[in-house]
Amino acid sequence: MSMSTSSLTSSTSSTSPAGSSADVVVVGAGIVGAAVAWRAARAGLRVTVLDPAPGDGATHAAAGMLAPVSETWFGEEPAVRLGLAGQAAWPAFAAELAAELGAETGADAGLRDTGTLVVAYDADDVAQLRRWLALHSRWSLKSGELALAEARRREPLLGPRVSGAAWVPGDHVADPRATHTALMSALGAHRAAAVVPRAAVRLVRDGRGAVVGVTDDAGETRRAGAVVLATGWRAADLVADLPVAVPVRPVRGQTLRLDAGPDVAPTHMVRGLVQGRPVYVVPRAPGTGRGPGTTADHREIVVGATSEEGPDDRRATAGGVFALLRDARALLPGLDESALVEATLRARPGTPDNLPLVGPTEVPGLHLAAGHHRNGVLLAPITADAVVAGLEGGDVPPALAVADPRRFRPAPVPVHDTPNHPARSLT
Ligand SMILES: Cc1cc2nc3c(=O)[nH]c(=O)nc-3n(C[C@H](O)[C@H](O)[C@H](O)COP(=O)(O)OP(=O)(O)OC[C@H]3O[C@@H](n4cnc5c(N)ncnc54)[C@H](O)[C@@H]3O)c2cc1C
Repeated sequence: MSMSTSSLTSSTSSTSPAGSSADVVVVGAGIVGAAVAWRAARAGLRVTVLDPAPGDGATHAAAGMLAPVSETWFGEEPAVRLGLAGQAAWPAFAAELAAELGAETGADAGLRDTGTLVVAYDADDVAQLRRWLALHSRWSLKSGELALAEARRREPLLGPRVSGAAWVPGDHVADPRATHTALMSALGAHRAAAVVPRAAVRLVRDGRGAVVGVTDDAGETRRAGAVVLATGWRAADLVADLPVAVPVRPVRGQTLRLDAGPDVAPTHMVRGLVQGRPVYVVPRAPGTGRGPGTTADHREIVVGATSEEGPDDRRATAGGVFALLRDARALLPGLDESALVEATLRARPGTPDNLPLVGPTEVPGLHLAAGHHRNGVLLAPITADAVVAGLEGGDVPPALAVADPRRFRPAPVPVHDTPNHPARSLT
């Protein structure tokens, strides 16, 4: 990927416009923007982060599965390869974050490497599971069918009607809310980073058309050598007048949070198909439960997720809650005894090819870290590394080549029918 747009280092303020107050402004502090800003600050860049509600976008709903193999789907091999690279970046990212915050704070990313049990409810689901395992085999992904007795040994709470099972050893889970809190704490402790609780309303451009800052909703302009848009499903909001394509759309998803005691909580991530419908049950570590009556051995269990095209109206629906609980309890009936403590709806940032938009754009000074759809938690660390490499003019990790935002072309500017300028076909 060429790095033809802005490149920055903390010591080369000459690359920043006169009067700049930062090397980079990151717009949006979900898990992606917060990771980018933290990595940029660690690289020595002066960072300003703008967000009126950090962490309250898709990050707030996400279960935190780091699960490219159990997310595999036919025709999506580039996404799987990117996901595996994203998964490989997680352990070092989580360890560095915990080390920076210090063991005494107890803050960490909630990374749990338990592997994933995939189960099938009826005979048709078993047939689908086997087609999916054959695809893994063709793509040399690590997974394998499990005898039901072995699946029940690993997860004794599986329901009696489960008909088939498989094991994916490398698919793990992190806690997106804990990770985000840790990132914001780390950013708050950096002298080179400032987090401003404001929304960006406009990009500022210079006479050459380069992006040189943003104006926020208080009317204040913040200049910088580069701007990174990490605004989730709203990524297209600020670029309407720019010759750049940002085809990100909202895809609504609901998750539930349960509080479960040790007698009813699974210990592994369980993904399943129930009469063709996908569902997952993600247990966090003991001590993460909450709500009335919870104790130190209770866990938070995340059940997900619905998916439908449409904007983020924050309205979890009765039908969505019903469907998720119906399918989760078909696999793990003991969940009936858990407490329902939260139903959350947010929108994923979807793109036409289900791959994110990461790196510099055609517009000098404008970088993207958006469109991560179902995998923004999985891909946050590798995205942060790639964006910082792009800001510094270095090489983006090869796995991110498929996420180059310039693979989408801006729509041609329409030519108007005027006496001096007759209409012509653009095709
Ligand atoms: C139900 C559900 C389950 C999911 N489960 C998983 C999972 O298990 N694993 C996984 O990897 N991914 C999962 N995802 C996807 C993941 O949550 C997203 O891909 C990820 O959160 C995207 O992060 P983000 O920082 O780009 O966006 P967001 O988290 O949406 O953050 C965008 C931020 O931008 C801010 N913002 C917007 N406009 C402006 C503006 N003009 N100025 C300033 N700030 C602005 C918002 O306030 C927000 O804080 C799930 C998503 C959903 C909805």
